[in-house]
Amino acid sequence: METKETKGLVLYNKDFREDDKLVKIFTESDGKRMFFVKRARKSKVTPVIQPLTMANFILKINETGLSYIEDYKEVEVFKQINTDIFKLAYASYIVALADSAISDAIPDPALFAFLSKTLTLINKGLDYDILTNIFEIQLLDHFGVSLNFNECLFCHRKNLPFDFSHRLSGLLCPDHYDKDPYRSHLNPNIPYLINQFQTIQFDELKTISVNESLKKELRLFIDALYDDYVGLKLKSKTFIDDLGKWGNIMKQD
Ligand SMILES: [Zn+2]
Repeated sequence: METKETKGLVLYNKDFREDDKLVKIFTESDGKRMFFVKRARKSKVTPVIQPLTMANFILKINETGLSYIEDYKEVEVFKQINTDIFKLAYASYIVALADSAISDAIPDPALFAFLSKTLTLINKGLDYDILTNIFEIQLLDHFGVSLNFNECLFCHRKNLPFDFSHRLSGLLCPDHYDKDPYRSHLNPNIPYLINQFQTIQFDELKTISVNESLKKELRLFIDALYDDYVGLKLKSKTFIDDLGKWGNIMKQD
């Protein structure tokens, strides 16, 4: 068994036997792995096994059996996320999405960095709807989905008022709208924004401002992409969808 120090993000924990817990951590160096915590209520690692806790963990990683958390340092708790039900709901969904996109024990330091950065920005108060959309779009290739939002499928021209065809899995320019009578009839700003989201650097985020009605259209289109190409049913996503309805009720009171 190998002892090593690595950054990690707790994805979830669950009860195991009477007083023990199993903790799933996405580690920077070794991918996501399950750790066994004996007598979890009295363990010194109890403060760092809650979901959405980031820390430098000292881990005993066992390739064939249970792995263990030896110790930790430099804990980061996302305070703003944990005290805001909306931020918490979106952060939980992003974490669940990352969890679904990776297999156990396969290192993915790039996704680890992207996930950490996204959570940090949600915690800082940047627009969580848009951060979530960017995360969803950039994660598509982890699900084996590669879509080109940059050019027409037929003539390869760019920067036109594009529409999307689910049948043909790509963009249609106005000259080629007729290639799919069932095209999506999108607002052309949607493919434009998705194309931006595919390549956006976080430094550019402050320059993106999307109004509420466009946000709703983005949400619907990305849902349609996920339904069509990924087919995930995450509880945390259903929760966000419901939260939209509660949000409206809370505003009326
Ligand atoms: Zn075309």
